[in-house]
Amino acid sequence: MVGIENVVALIGWPLGHSMSPLIQNAAFLELGLDSWIYVAMPVSKYPYIRIKEAILGLKALGFKGANITVPYKESVVPYLDQLSDDARNIGAVNTVVVDEHGSLVGHNTDGLGLIKDLHDHQINPAELDILLLGAGGSARSVAHSLLKEGCLGMSILNRNKNKADDIANKLAQAFPKVKLRTGVLDKDTLKQLPHHTLVINCTSLGMRPYQDQMPWDENISFSKSHIVYDLIYQPAKTKFLAKAEADGAKVINGLGMLVHQGALAFKLWTGHEAPLKRMKEAAIFFPPK
Ligand code: NAP
Repeated sequence: MVGIENVVALIGWPLGHSMSPLIQNAAFLELGLDSWIYVAMPVSKYPYIRIKEAILGLKALGFKGANITVPYKESVVPYLDQLSDDARNIGAVNTVVVDEHGSLVGHNTDGLGLIKDLHDHQINPAELDILLLGAGGSARSVAHSLLKEGCLGMSILNRNKNKADDIANKLAQAFPKVKLRTGVLDKDTLKQLPHHTLVINCTSLGMRPYQDQMPWDENISFSKSHIVYDLIYQPAKTKFLAKAEADGAKVINGLGMLVHQGALAFKLWTGHEAPLKRMKEAAIFFPPK
């Protein structure tokens, strides 16, 4: 019998909705990596934030790595020993590798995961003008990857506009030719927006247990020419996607992105090419409710 020697953690809060343990453990089994296991480790913000202890604990406990999710993708950065070029440019981390020297190395696979899922849906983000709703950790990664793919322009709206400005300023240095606009995510700004073919929700509005909320106004309509993507996959159809679909837009949830970003992380931890088909099957077999 093989012992469990290689443990990977999922760190975030809340984690009850996450399908990552299912997808990653299916992948370990598929490749016969019997000494590997992926475990959800919720790190609550209450009564005080303990993300530093959690991250440094990966070293002490001999973990092989971790995924970092809401709300710690940005706040985890100062506690890491090294960052990949992309993670440094993005300023947020969703994957940590504990290397053979015990150093914590931060990566970000979210944005590339989204690009791969867009391609699976025959959507090429190059040459599109894109609207991003949100400016948290995932928005940083998504914006960076879309610009790398050659999108024409991007508007970033966020409740806290300073965070949208911060992303745009960083991106403007790396991609000086792309048109970047920022604004407050509110009804008035949404009403005045020009047409964006691709609209992506990177906020956590709509995710369980906030499924009755959306980052959009009920009275502002989408059309058949819109593609509306929601990073959220739990519930499978957020209030936002349901509205966009009712208006005639093409809608996609974040399940495919989850599988792709997870496959990229899997390769970073294990060195093996991820069994993408098996990971997709696991996600489809246990679909989000
Ligand atoms: P995050 O860093 O915590 O950022 C949260 C974002 O949501 C911020 O823009 C925040 O605005 C906004 N927000 C939160 N509450 C709000 C409210 N009441 N009103 C308006 N805006 C609000 O989280 P994240 O890591 O970027 O993740 C965001 C979402 O994407 C989550 O639902 C996560 O599950 C999902 N996600 C999915 C995948 C996937 O693979 N499918 C990957 C990554 C993330 P402020 O800055 O103003 O607070």
